[in-house]
Amino acid sequence: MTIYQLYSWHSGAQDQMSIVMGNMGELAWQALAAQANKPQPAPPAQQQALVPLSSDVHYTIEKSGPNAPEVHPVFSPETAAHLNAAFSELNKDGIVPQIDSAFRTPSDQAYMQSGGSGSNPAAKTSWHEAGAAVDIGGTRTPQYKTIISVMKKNGFVWGGDFHSKKDPPHFDGRNFSGNLSQAVRKAQSYWDSTQ
Ligand SMILES: [Zn+2]
Repeated sequence: MTIYQLYSWHSGAQDQMSIVMGNMGELAWQALAAQANKPQPAPPAQQQALVPLSSDVHYTIEKSGPNAPEVHPVFSPETAAHLNAAFSELNKDGIVPQIDSAFRTPSDQAYMQSGGSGSNPAAKTSWHEAGAAVDIGGTRTPQYKTIISVMKKNGFVWGGDFHSKKDPPHFDGRNFSGNLSQAVRKAQSYWDSTQ
């Protein structure tokens, strides 16, 4: 049995307390004492590489076809921030965007590439795999013009502006997402860690 003395200055008075410890090792005691004397650190900053949209914004989720992979409505934090801003603006206009595709795993992307997106096969590597792209359905609806302008205003590149292979439902955050392959690696490894 060992006796450790702990001096406490909390009240300004130099209270002296004696604490009788059991067989706890000195290192364990020191760790405990250090923890007790320090304010508890905040939980580590969010390291999530894929996040859902804000619960304040309204959208629907619709697979692009009966055999299409499940839609994973998660995004890189930067993309989510831009989408939250765009969608809340659209919501104010009474528009509820329909998400047909968001984050894609490699097998999701392979499906899209092998004809899953109809006559417009998807790219081999896509901003979708970085959680930095969204496909919004309803391209023939009257409100789509508003969707395009609000999404562009909020930093997204629109697939309808692509020079080759236009992709009207597609919007991506390449202008604020850095390097594609790095962004894909980060998102995919985070996704794998959550499965
Ligand atoms: Zn897309």
